[in-house]
Amino acid sequence: MLRNLTLTLLLILCSLPVQAEGFITRLLNHPVPGGVAVVGLPEQSEAPRASYQGKPVLTIREDGERWIAIVGIDLKTKPGQQQLALANGGQIGFEVRSKRYEEQHITLRNKSQVNPAPAQLARIQRELDAQLAAYAEFSPRQPSNLLLDRPVPGALSSAFGLRRFFNGEERNPHSGLDFAAATGTPIKAPAAGKVILTGDYFFNGNTVFIDHGQGLISMFCHLSHIDVSLGDEVERGGLIGKVGATGRATGPHLHWNISLNGNRVDPAIFIGAFKP
Ligand SMILES: [Zn+2]
Repeated sequence: MLRNLTLTLLLILCSLPVQAEGFITRLLNHPVPGGVAVVGLPEQSEAPRASYQGKPVLTIREDGERWIAIVGIDLKTKPGQQQLALANGGQIGFEVRSKRYEEQHITLRNKSQVNPAPAQLARIQRELDAQLAAYAEFSPRQPSNLLLDRPVPGALSSAFGLRRFFNGEERNPHSGLDFAAATGTPIKAPAAGKVILTGDYFFNGNTVFIDHGQGLISMFCHLSHIDVSLGDEVERGGLIGKVGATGRATGPHLHWNISLNGNRVDPAIFIGAFKP
């Protein structure tokens, strides 16, 4: 009897915070390095403005009830307390938990893709600058959907955050999610947005950036063909391009990055495929 009562109380206590959270929070709140923190905001009539590390963050009203901030956490963040700054000068703390990422060892025959020739470095830097500028965009539009559609069918091949060693030398961790798909497979917009950058880059090959609104930005890489132009408005499910193996790729696949408030985060979170 007492045991049942204890169990019942425990169940009630455990279910309370969950009841206060909506679907978006339950889906997206994975506060780890390279993850997403959903932070409840004080009640107010107008959309609150909040920032993290000096950059504006995405805010929405969840289920027409409470305001929440959806915050991207950089992969290099150490576990512990972080602060979200409110426009009125207040702060709200949130906890970043730890997560261990796997290692991957890749052998590239083309050594210039491991250690690019000095002549390539200026090009690589120029391309990096353009891409960082695109990630820094913050347009006021609301994302059409936060539970994103998969841009291509097909198995997930390489996870976000993999620590990568090219010919034994550690390089940047994997900043996106890879889908195994054949050359020519159509790539569809996971949410509506505006094309803010396209290019043919040394590492990423044919690439498209789509601004979904409020700092939520997608990048699609290694395309065999780009079907959109700079400034185009793309509907949810609209054709962006086709899968390929351009740039530094060992075979045809789609590499998809998601950026939130300027930080690359795990796209698996947004398609309900996150593995803690
Ligand atoms: Zn990739």
